[in-house]
Amino acid sequence: MEILKIVKSRLPKGVVEKIELEGCEIIVYTKDKDFFRSHEETIRSLVAEIKKRIEVRADISICLDQEATKKIIQEIVPKEAKIHEIYFEPERSIVVIGAEKPGLVIGKGGTTFREIKKKTFWAPRIERVPPIRSKIVDGVRKMIHREVKFRKKFLKKIGESIFTKRETKRNWIRITALGGFREVGRSCALIETPKSRILVDCGVNVGASNTNAFPYLNVKEFDINELDAIVISHTHLDHAGFVPFLYKYGFEGPTYVTPPTRDVFTLLCLDYIDVLQRNGVEPPYDAKDVKNAVKHMITLEYGEVSDIAPDVRLTFQNAGHLLGSALIHLHIGEGLHNIVWACDMKYGKSSLFDPAFTNFQRVETLILESTYGSPNDVMPPRREAEKQLVDIINETMKRGGQVLIPSFGVGRGQDVMVILAKHNFEFPVFIDGMIWDATGIHTAYPEYMSREIQRDIFNDNNPFTKDIFKRVASQADREKVFDEKPCVIISTSGSLVGGPAIEYLKNMCEDEKNTLIFVGYQFEGTLGRRIQRGWREIPLHNKEGKSISLPIRMEVKTVEGLSGHSDYKQLINFVKRLKPKLGRIIVAHGEEKKCKIMKSILHKIFRIETVAPKNLETVRIV
Ligand SMILES: [Zn+2]
Repeated sequence: MEILKIVKSRLPKGVVEKIELEGCEIIVYTKDKDFFRSHEETIRSLVAEIKKRIEVRADISICLDQEATKKIIQEIVPKEAKIHEIYFEPERSIVVIGAEKPGLVIGKGGTTFREIKKKTFWAPRIERVPPIRSKIVDGVRKMIHREVKFRKKFLKKIGESIFTKRETKRNWIRITALGGFREVGRSCALIETPKSRILVDCGVNVGASNTNAFPYLNVKEFDINELDAIVISHTHLDHAGFVPFLYKYGFEGPTYVTPPTRDVFTLLCLDYIDVLQRNGVEPPYDAKDVKNAVKHMITLEYGEVSDIAPDVRLTFQNAGHLLGSALIHLHIGEGLHNIVWACDMKYGKSSLFDPAFTNFQRVETLILESTYGSPNDVMPPRREAEKQLVDIINETMKRGGQVLIPSFGVGRGQDVMVILAKHNFEFPVFIDGMIWDATGIHTAYPEYMSREIQRDIFNDNNPFTKDIFKRVASQADREKVFDEKPCVIISTSGSLVGGPAIEYLKNMCEDEKNTLIFVGYQFEGTLGRRIQRGWREIPLHNKEGKSISLPIRMEVKTVEGLSGHSDYKQLINFVKRLKPKLGRIIVAHGEEKKCKIMKSILHKIFRIETVAPKNLETVRIV
């Protein structure tokens, strides 16, 4: 590879033992101890010049033996860091240190980290051991570690593909809408550049029948063998739920995600398979395909710039929508064009996240969601919504009742937990099922939440580990909760279409002291939507299979304003912030009506080109 020869020629003679690619990163292995200890300055200036990432690692032959290395690490790192485990990847000369306080393993200005390197010659990687252990986080990390040989080969192949000199006669860029345009669900777009093909998001429409549940991948434009990479904005199933299917059908390239997205993806895809099977529907893929997708994932943090194809550079930035959710910035060619994918995003502060990032240096084309794209879609201010929620809950506590908050596994449940913690709530809050697992994943990635939550966590005031929160893990636990009064229960599913929430509801519905609170969107056709609209009966089957119904005498309330999507005003404000750089807006991710309204309003306000393509339409942007 040309690029490897260039790097090698720029380093001192004889120091390079081996040089290879790990994705877009150039890894230099050396046997020269002095060079390993003192390479920082040389590498920094070389990186600044060639604009590629370079890491120097020691050749395994000079790394200290593993037992001695463990001892040195335990000596150097302060006890308060609480190291749980230390393990090795000799194939890459890497030592992984799992600790409760990663900051203390790194040390002020990276001093501890550097000392470990210089004394052991291993390259440290630090993993946070979360205060709420999650089987998913542990499982994914262990799997990636077990697959180190596969990963090394895979990353080398990806690197070679990124740095290859690809000839091209194309001088255009275009975006083809494959799903989630003039609709919500199955988001997917193909971006073709002069030298590359990138798929952005690849979701399923969970509410739809099989014929329109999945993106249009059977079109001529889409050839799985010509795809360079998949990039996923966030892990809601309507954005990421179809990714395992591509691996089932032979895709061998990378999927780029943020680290929390990788973990939540695993949780939600496995749950999706489970829910379909329980409803007697054949899932489009199985657990093996999910694992295979995760094996091919490359994680990037917010703000980390990475080459992902011969003429495409990717950066993720905070989208304020969900744990690990990202705005996708694609820089194409050397300064040719910049695209930002903003589906989904929240340009407003929530209890979990800061508002979506807007400080892009350049954006010529924006792809914008329009879930709340009509001028009537204005939400009450966040503070009012939170206060209303807390007031309703306190009212119920005062009369000795129970509150049920149906919630999706990831997002709203954790949001409510943080609101209650912030208001110094004192009654027990039971967290059922998947919501607890997802909470564990949140505690593994505080860097991906708001600055306020990070500050609380670093000051040992973690909202998620307050002792008001109690895990419900079994049927026996659940039955105990039935008699616990007063209390709050947060449980799946979010729109009462199954999950333990139904069992709680049956148990609680006839008592006027209790309250059911909807905090998330209730999809058409669900029991949640019916109850919200005024139904006061719960349809059931008794033991003999006969249909009966239970009356709802509990109070039913809806709290608006906790959504993870921007409302109308926030969408306009977001565009206003980007406006000086914008040339075109492509409106997506909204009901047909909303997409059309948004498109014409944006054009009227900002006087730039706006389009709202239908699925299967292509927009040429250069
Ligand atoms: Zn979403």
